[in-house]
Parts: sequence; structure tokens; C-alpha cells
Amino acid sequence: MLFDSHTHSYFSPDADKGAEIEAMAIKAQELGLSYITVTDHCDCCYWLPESEGEYDEYQKADSIMFGSRDYSKASIEKTLLLKQKHENLLCGTELGEPLQNIKAAEEILSIDGLDFVIGSLHMNSGKPDFYYLEYDNVDISVIRVLLGRYFTEVLDMCKWGGFDSLGHLTYPLRYIQGEYEITIDMRRYNDIIREIFCTLIEKGKALELNTSGFRQKYGKPFPEEKYLRLYRELGGELVTIGSDAHNIFDIGAGIRRGEELLKACGFKYITVYKGRKPENFKLDI
Ligand SMILES: [Zn+2]
Ligand SMILES: [Zn+2]
Repeated sequence: MLFDSHTHSYFSPDADKGAEIEAMAIKAQELGLSYITVTDHCDCCYWLPESEGEYDEYQKADSIMFGSRDYSKASIEKTLLLKQKHENLLCGTELGEPLQNIKAAEEILSIDGLDFVIGSLHMNSGKPDFYYLEYDNVDISVIRVLLGRYFTEVLDMCKWGGFDSLGHLTYPLRYIQGEYEITIDMRRYNDIIREIFCTLIEKGKALELNTSGFRQKYGKPFPEEKYLRLYRELGGELVTIGSDAHNIFDIGAGIRRGEELLKACGFKYITVYKGRKPENFKLDI
């Protein structure tokens, strides 16, 4: 069985305008996916109009684009409506930076009918999204500190635990190693990544295998195999899988390959969340 538990519709400002939720459900059915979960962005840090003055120009631009809570809520409302018609459709949200605006996070989490919540971090507190950062002509020590800070904030988010699955753990590497081809010795983060996994396991939260990296310059999923194996070794069992599609064409991309990888790493199940409760499906590839 194949599942795509991380997809974006046109309600995500960075997604393709043609990505209509109903078309996504139909596409998933054509592809033979058992479930597709729509998880539009809800970047909580952009919900703070009162702190507008503290943002840099990128964040200001993004807060205009992403800041409207209407996008996140409209996506959920529309998906819940279409769920009545499409049995393969599930309603989620990608909750970004919840600890940077806990009130926004709580507001979204209080909506009835949510099936699934991904917890993600796209930017360190007070910094722009890793997508916007310049890595050329920057001392490697600055990048190391940024990454260290990133994993610390991810750990804090896991300790809070108001989500179901931890999204794309190694997100900054999409840009640092993928786009800028800067090699980072990741061993310095082994301890904190281990602590992140132990926290997820202790709290009964899942880890996401995000397959978008397969089709990007990075060439590996987020997180890559060695981290999947570590999570499994530590006792991790709950894994969700998602393409992070931002258009119709990427729905289901890399899912089969991802499920094969998970099986090779010793996982027995893929987890799908319904009504915020995990359901395990045997990996039968
Ligand atoms: Zn994300
Ligand atoms: Zn996403």
C-alpha cells in the first residue's frame, strides 16, 4: 500500500496555483495511493502582525504572503468538505515553527476534524527561512552554529510535542548541501539528533520520511538512510511518508522508493494518521 502524507494545495502560497484539492485526490486515486493527506503550510511565526517591525525584508515579504491565517484555515475547511466525497482524502496541516507563536499553533490545533499534524521548522527563531539564507562566502563556523541552533529548536519542538510526525528533519541540508554543495561534517550533531529521536519515541510521535530530496539536487530523502537506521535502532517504529508535493505532478513521487528504503532499514509499518490517531499498515513492498 502506498500513502502520501505530505502534500500542498494552492492554499500554500508557494505551491502551484493549479493544485486544487479535488484534483489532488483524483490524481492520488489514479496513482493507486491508498490515502493522500493535504498538509498546507501554517507557518506560525508569520501570524504575528504586532511584531512586524522585527522582521527583515524577506520575512516581511513572506508574512504578507504566508501570514494570513485564512490560507491555513481555508485549506482545512475545503479538505474537510471534500473528504465527504473522496474516501482517500485526509485533512492535515504542516505546522511550522509552533513554538515561535504558540497561540497561532493552538488556534490551528483546536480546529475539529484534523487527521494529521506535521511539526516542521523552516527557520530558526528570528531568522529567515533556510531557503533565503546565503551560504556562499559565509564562514563554515557560521553555518555550523546555524545548524546547531536549528537542531536545538527542533528538539524543543519535540519536547513540546503538539504534532503527530516530525517533518523533514534535515531540511537545511536541502540548501546547504544540495543547492550550495557545501559539505558539512554532521557528526557534531549526532548527540542532539539522537536526543530528538529518543524524545519522539518517548512521546509516541512519528518521524517523517520526506521524499522530496530524491527529486532535488540533494538527491537523498529528509532524513537520509543513516538517520532512519539510527531511529529504528533506538526503538522508533512510527514513520509517516510524504512527497511534499507542491504541484499535482509530484504527488506520490518517491513514495515507493521511500517505502523500500524503510523496509531495508528494518521498519515493519507505515503509519497514517486519521483523526490524529496512528494507524499502522504493513510494509508489503
Ligand atoms: Zn516543510
Ligand atoms: Zn511541506
